[in-house]
Amino acid sequence: MDQNTTDKVRPGDKRKLVDRFGREIKYVRLSVTDRCDLRCVYCMSEDMQFVPRSQLLTLEELHRVGRAFVELGVNKIRITGGEPLTRNNILHLFHSLGSLDGLDDFTLTTNGTLLARYARDLKAAGVSRINISLDTLQPERFRNITRTGTLQRTLQGIDAALETGFQRIKINSVILKHRNHDEIADLVEFCVRRGMDISFIEEMPLGVISEHDRAEAYYSSDQILVDLQQRFTLLPTTESTGGPSRYYRMEESETRVGFISPHSHNFCDSCNRVRLTAEGRLLLCLGQEHSMDLRRVLRANPLDDAPLRQAIIQAMDLKPKGHDFDLTSQPVLFRHMNATGG
Ligand code: SAM
Ligand code: SF4
Repeated sequence: MDQNTTDKVRPGDKRKLVDRFGREIKYVRLSVTDRCDLRCVYCMSEDMQFVPRSQLLTLEELHRVGRAFVELGVNKIRITGGEPLTRNNILHLFHSLGSLDGLDDFTLTTNGTLLARYARDLKAAGVSRINISLDTLQPERFRNITRTGTLQRTLQGIDAALETGFQRIKINSVILKHRNHDEIADLVEFCVRRGMDISFIEEMPLGVISEHDRAEAYYSSDQILVDLQQRFTLLPTTESTGGPSRYYRMEESETRVGFISPHSHNFCDSCNRVRLTAEGRLLLCLGQEHSMDLRRVLRANPLDDAPLRQAIIQAMDLKPKGHDFDLTSQPVLFRHMNATGG
């Protein structure tokens, strides 16, 4: 961190977070755990080493970080992980962040396995939207892709979120060649029938996963679009939910079909977000290692958030221009997606 800066921030100051390339940061993703009840093949290796619990930020520290970002002009927070709903007492954090003044969009990404239990409480806590990951509608494939999961539990979670009245629920699907690429249209139809949106995600090379060949499994957004156009009429839109998806609208349906395409359509120019890992490392880019250790700042200043806000402002200078993903060559980033906060 640059010690010579004189840029002091006082409580209540409304500041803009702007990086060196003029991009304003309005969106932070907080990973509340790197642990998960599933082991998706593209996300984790089978024998993951998780961060010792003592090194995770406490729920109170996570709240302090969220509040500091909102005081600095961020208006969107997404809670993610690992699987956020597996963290003990996580509802406390949802309640405390959900009541922050200035937070317009409070969202969650989950695999859905625990939504049947938590959907109502999440709504009561102020969660505005939920993304649920679902890559296949076939039980056996679900088990193979997640290594441990049961499709029925995620489907029950989706039903619970719908029954609770969440609007604009979005399904996230990572499409892998020869594993689920033939289900693209079925997944869209599943969403259309339920009035949900869907985003297709290109797999990113985060973490070494020996038993899964990423280059071989690559299935581009452009190919997905071509496949879908065989069955549906898709109309391009300029709509955005503040994230990296490019959206199309389905004819005669409310459903939006999004594409998150880090390989084929780099989204770095309009990047408005940063991520906090569960140990409190602020990552300035999903695909690069530029980061700042906020846990050290939090623990050195337990009663004063001014140094925390200062550190966040300084971290903006570390945000790189963009990622540089390449599925075919080494080195890949050693950090897995569950440790990154997807
Ligand atoms: N456990 C929750 C879930 O699965 O929704 C939240 C965390 S998960 C890391 C967030 C999103 O990242 C999921 O939609 C998942 O499919 C996606 N993801 C995980 N690993 C990925 C990878 N290597 N490339 C692209 N997307 C990935
Ligand atoms: Fe868990 Fe989500 Fe990663 Fe799957 S994608 S292993 S559900 S963190």
